[in-house]
Amino acid sequence: MKNFRTITLVAILVIAMTLTLTACDDGNAVTEATSEPTSIIEATPRPEPTPEPTPEPEEPSCEHVWQEANFQQPQMCLECGEIEGEPLTPGFFEYDEFTLNSTQTDYEYLTRTEEYEDIIIYGIANAHPLVIIEYDDYREAKEGFEWRILTVELYFYGLGVEHFGRVIGFSSNLDFYHFSMDGNVRSLIGNVGNRTINFYGNAYEVTVMTEHTSEWTDDIIHGEWVLISTFEFSALVPIGYDGMMVAFFNAARSFGVDLDSLSPSDLFDENTLFFRLG
Ligand SMILES: [Zn+2]
Repeated sequence: MKNFRTITLVAILVIAMTLTLTACDDGNAVTEATSEPTSIIEATPRPEPTPEPTPEPEEPSCEHVWQEANFQQPQMCLECGEIEGEPLTPGFFEYDEFTLNSTQTDYEYLTRTEEYEDIIIYGIANAHPLVIIEYDDYREAKEGFEWRILTVELYFYGLGVEHFGRVIGFSSNLDFYHFSMDGNVRSLIGNVGNRTINFYGNAYEVTVMTEHTSEWTDDIIHGEWVLISTFEFSALVPIGYDGMMVAFFNAARSFGVDLDSLSPSDLFDENTLFFRLG
């Protein structure tokens, strides 16, 4: 019986020492346990110490590697994906005097006759809803690109058109994001083929084609025969790129004028009609 008690005591002592050693990692634990055996015996039935809640492992702080903001995204860390700030402001918003027009709405379009610059031509412009296709019979597919097609009809009426012709000032190669009043008019006016755009931080070459047809119709507005001019703008852009834009401005600004003497602000004003292929 005595032996049993001794063995029990030793066993308890060993267990208690082990517990103490586990609970504390400083060297004093061993000394305390051996110098106060009584307290160890009393301590035997004590409840298991509730384990301390394991602290959440701290995220190692990212030394951000920022990718610059672009027109689609704010600046973003390439390591952890954190974003900060806002996307860049589209260039078009820098010019309060301009308005982006919607499709399927009639807008007044004023321009001049071909023959006499002081005769004003009255027109109405209406854009069809945007069409997006991969390719068709005369627009070739390109990997990662799509065709955005905007058709705008211009209705002209009045004796001026019938007798003296009409001129249309248009720009098929504008961009909502990269829009600027600086630069060369020749790069904006008429049917200019290519431009470089930035989409999610990458540069792409986009292509714009313009088809133009005109015909007199049997329609009559204000007692006049109506001439319809139809413009079809096709832009080959990276899939999802919504920045391409076209404009119709008063041809009196550019027709018969030396283009090198002009800046974009000579062409575009608050009456210019801007339509976005977006
Ligand atoms: Zn980061």
